[in-house]
Amino acid sequence: MIPKKKWGQNFLRNRGAVDKIVNAIEPQPGEVILEIGPGEGVLTEKLVELGEVTAIEIDPHLAARLRQKFGDIIVNADALEVPLPSRPFRAVGNLPYNVGTPILRRVIADPNFRRAVFMLQKEVADRLVAKPRDEQYGFLTLYRELFASARILMKLDPGSFHPAPKVRSAVVVLDPDRKPFASDAFIDLISAAFRMRRKKLVNNLTTYPREDVLTALERANIDEGTRAEELSLDDFARLFNSLR
Ligand code: SAM
Repeated sequence: MIPKKKWGQNFLRNRGAVDKIVNAIEPQPGEVILEIGPGEGVLTEKLVELGEVTAIEIDPHLAARLRQKFGDIIVNADALEVPLPSRPFRAVGNLPYNVGTPILRRVIADPNFRRAVFMLQKEVADRLVAKPRDEQYGFLTLYRELFASARILMKLDPGSFHPAPKVRSAVVVLDPDRKPFASDAFIDLISAAFRMRRKKLVNNLTTYPREDVLTALERANIDEGTRAEELSLDDFARLFNSLR
């Protein structure tokens, strides 16, 4: 079957990486393993030895082929839309690059998420683990921090895949660490804060009256000339409380 670009089909050919990914999942009793984008099944064949698996594949041809081998654990659906498991799950996948970030965001915000082991573009992995003032630090870093801890398990060169992608890849392990202030309103605040990266925070938070923002910054002990990229998640939490 010819790999389809529109679904980000770069199949993993590095056996050492497959083992490392599978070993990092560590499923616990009662948890289900949710595989996203099983492709040709290189991870699936190891995952079924670890525990109960559900695998979501968008490509009907690949899904049909996988079903012949693995049966009805294969679901032909879009991982951005299919309901996530209603009981504790560990997600794993060599994520399609075009939808890797929204899939990750959906998974880590889910109350049943217990771990995720995701292959992503290295540039996205760097954003996930960045620190304030790093070039890669931004909305995605803070969104991740709101729900999970993250560490990079390994980096891979394009030659580990067929066909070789243009970019480098990295595997990230995410564990639940949901903050009590995680909410849509908080996500809206960090999203607005990074709208124009080089602008001062006060000029990005235009959905609030300017006076309110200035007062809240003062109350939160944050200089009014600060840019979003200088603030930690705790700083944003203080600002969020002061704004309300
Ligand atoms: N896991 C396989 C591997 O490591 O070789 C395939 C990885 S390939 C990078 C991404 C896979 O995700 C492809 O099989 C593709 O068809 C599938 N895919 C793409 N978009 C998807 C979506 N929205 N929902 C579910 N699967 C998707």
